[in-house]
Amino acid sequence: MSNHIDRRGFLVSVGAAAGAAATAGLTGGALGAVGQSQAGGAGVGARRAGRVCAISSANGVQTVAKAVERIRAGVDPALAVVEGVGIAEADPNDKTVGLGGRPNELGIVELDASVMHGPTHKAGSVASIQNIMHPAQVALKVLQYTDHVMIVGDGARKFAIAHGFKEEDLLTEETRQEWMRWRRHRSDIDDWLTDSQMDWKPDGTRPLTNAEKRAEIEERSAGTIHCSVVTPAGDLAGCTTTSGLAYKIPGRVGDSPIIGAGLFTDNEVGSAGATGRGEEAIQSCGAHSVVMEMAGGKDPTEACLAVLKKVADRVRRQRRLVDERGRPNFNLVLYAVRKDGAYGSACMIEGREFAVDDGNGARREKCAFLFEAR
Ligand code: ASP
Repeated sequence: MSNHIDRRGFLVSVGAAAGAAATAGLTGGALGAVGQSQAGGAGVGARRAGRVCAISSANGVQTVAKAVERIRAGVDPALAVVEGVGIAEADPNDKTVGLGGRPNELGIVELDASVMHGPTHKAGSVASIQNIMHPAQVALKVLQYTDHVMIVGDGARKFAIAHGFKEEDLLTEETRQEWMRWRRHRSDIDDWLTDSQMDWKPDGTRPLTNAEKRAEIEERSAGTIHCSVVTPAGDLAGCTTTSGLAYKIPGRVGDSPIIGAGLFTDNEVGSAGATGRGEEAIQSCGAHSVVMEMAGGKDPTEACLAVLKKVADRVRRQRRLVDERGRPNFNLVLYAVRKDGAYGSACMIEGREFAVDDGNGARREKCAFLFEAR
């Protein structure tokens, strides 16, 4: 496969991206940053066989550094990614994953996670698991110790406890207060008073400004950590872990624990993952589609863009998900690393970053994008 990719390399890939742009009717800065995300500006055609690479969502700078450090120490790539994302899972200030992740509409933190091991093509995942800080580690136990791929809900929690995981309340004081505020403001015709309905505010509660409201909506659907890695020997692994959509309907499962949607790894080709609007990653088989685009000869960035374009085309059939110009009104970010160490990421709407460590240090880079920011 790597020979196949080597032969088709630069020209085929760039041609495909240009074609996609033309079909999408994109102009100006759309398809921004294509190729920029290749290591050190080496370009799509440069092959870096034998080098380590870890790519992650923007909240994963420490994650990619840890994953690369562990791979260099000879640790299996699946263990390295799970250890890497464990930093975010344990961070109470990352409100999109693990401890301190935003809760469901009842104020209960429900986590989703998956891991995939390239060399054995085995996956493990858990969904809607409560009270366990490191769902990615539980997903790894599913992968290692069971004949299954996915365990959900209370079964996943009990499975974790059986493996020695400690139960704890994952709601922090900050996320509890945010959730309570969201709950009060869901409606002004229920029995919870919104800020503007309250007559007595001894704690100085004030209504949110419009800018704060916009930030609140944006935050609600932004989160998750994905990490994909390749070792110098060309072995791949990936992991995605999340608290999912904030204030979701209890039991709602996003793309993160679904193999092929929020994560897919093929040891012959590459590994990919998704963050952002999980429903679209599921309905496009997002991560699997990215890997298949790479198998067809696209470089990682162009593979991500090609899948985003398909999502944007299909989603026009659902009017509530597009703006007045027919462009998606949500973000979806795709990440990919190829077997030879090339990497890339793209988002639906301009402005996102990703984290990468390709052996030259952990850093953030700008995602390529399909649509300019409004
Ligand atoms: N993809 C996650 C989900 O849908 C959320 C996110 O990444 O923002 O659960």
